[in-house]
Amino acid sequence: MVAIHCAECNIPYRANSLGLFVCAGCGKLLDPADIDLDGQESWTVDKSGTLGYVVESSDSLAESHTGDQVSTAINKGADLVIEALGLGEGPEVDAINLVVNSAIRCLENPGIGFAEVVKTCYDESVEEILGWWGWGY
Ligand SMILES: [Zn+2]
Repeated sequence: MVAIHCAECNIPYRANSLGLFVCAGCGKLLDPADIDLDGQESWTVDKSGTLGYVVESSDSLAESHTGDQVSTAINKGADLVIEALGLGEGPEVDAINLVVNSAIRCLENPGIGFAEVVKTCYDESVEEILGWWGWGY
């Protein structure tokens, strides 16, 4: 962790009981919302209450897969499960494929609902899909 210092006093900010950070030198208060960091940095507080920042590890950076990579991985995962479980045509495979399609649409549009997923991925209505295997009854 790299301590964040008061620009005027060069003293690290410390957490106070109100959830704000205070400079012991000039008493300047720093609101967590006003902590200005680069995209790869996150603020943190050490055991002594000193405010600082850390640069996120490459583990967190690995989250930035492309949509294509995620889509391929989800499809591959579905195939592995379908094959390992010996699933043929049936409700399980259809349900897995609904998950795959929904997950990929959610990647593009996190607020999407099931009806919208169905509209963009299937030629059938929600009611028809619910009727495939007697789902939703
Ligand atoms: Zn200060």
